[in-house]
Amino acid sequence: MFQARRARRGTPSVMRWLAVACLAASIGACSPAGGQTVGGTHSPADSTGHQLAAGTPSPSSGPGSASSGPGSESSGPGSASEPSAGAKPLAGTVIVLDPGHNGDNWAHPEIINRLVNVITEWKPCDTTGAQTNAGYAEHAFSFNVARRLASLLKSEGATVILTRRNDHGVGPCITRRAAIANRAHADVAISIHADGGPSSGSGFEVIEPGLVAGHNNRIISPSRRLGLDVRNAYRRIAGEPYANYIGRHGLDVRTDLGGLNLSKVPKVFIECGNMRNVSDAARLSSPAFRQRVARALAAGLTAFLAPDGAG
Ligand code: ZN
Repeated sequence: MFQARRARRGTPSVMRWLAVACLAASIGACSPAGGQTVGGTHSPADSTGHQLAAGTPSPSSGPGSASSGPGSESSGPGSASEPSAGAKPLAGTVIVLDPGHNGDNWAHPEIINRLVNVITEWKPCDTTGAQTNAGYAEHAFSFNVARRLASLLKSEGATVILTRRNDHGVGPCITRRAAIANRAHADVAISIHADGGPSSGSGFEVIEPGLVAGHNNRIISPSRRLGLDVRNAYRRIAGEPYANYIGRHGLDVRTDLGGLNLSKVPKVFIECGNMRNVSDAARLSSPAFRQRVARALAAGLTAFLAPDGAG
């Protein structure tokens, strides 16, 4: 049983709702557009090597709002996730879902190329993400999976917070994505991505935080357990094989990802498949497969948070 879950059970529901509402309000005022911009930077991004160049149009994107910010998928007091909470395996837990990239990133390189400090290096605020050869974009995939996953987790009693509220904004920066989970004192967080690897490579991998001494020490061990739970559930339920071109047995450890370096809560990234591989792309583009992905991730998170109550 996860310690934080027991501790949270006594928290009044109204206070928790207020905390989430205040978080959403405060983050919403922090548009990435307000920061200093640096154009034309090309250091590695906080993705896993699959970003397009900033300014490259994404076929599934178009002009839209530059707004971004977390969207709380939680309901207010009296919702299904509150009073009857005791019977549900994720009752009392707070889960942050971080769908990678955003739909309008490509149109705002002046924002997403701004460098931010991820402790081990300076990296762009965000990136545009990968896409399939047919033009299905990673930002759309990750957001769609996050919405499906949020619904499943809420039905299990969790309070769910997304790091962006739609798929036509910009950012938020990778530092902000981590801060959202930290401020919420989330029990767990997961960043959802799909890779843009070599076309010959296929499969998925879960990326765990490597030790950045003095910063993420406390999350290393629980994140390792989380990584195993998510990997095992994804293999079993999504049916995707371990990546054959990156990682090892579906797992990897990295210290160059701001979302992991800056996290104070247990967290992993998942690359759900390789968008540049024909077979993987066909699956990732399928709504039915994305629902399986959501079910798999829900099972992995539940196994981590409530191993006695899962199922
Ligand atoms: Zn990505």
